[in-house]
Amino acid sequence: MGSGQCSWYAPNTFDQDDETIAIVIDPRGDPADKIQNAVDSCPTGALSIVSDDEARDDEAGDKGKDG
Ligand code: SF4
Repeated sequence: MGSGQCSWYAPNTFDQDDETIAIVIDPRGDPADKIQNAVDSCPTGALSIVSDDEARDDEAGDKGKDG
């Protein structure tokens, strides 16, 4: 959708690429409340916050799938 809400609320965490796709530039770029506001503002519900443990589990699961 490329609304840019996330990068407006947390500009040091989110940005948009040349195709207006949202990207994370630094997962700890802004205070937690700003990042939460960015996530809450996303009109498509595309964003979520995961703990470091959840991220590690997802990464390990992805590696398992790929080989
Ligand atoms: S992730 Fe959500 S808030 Fe960010 S640009 Fe995409 S639609 Fe907009």
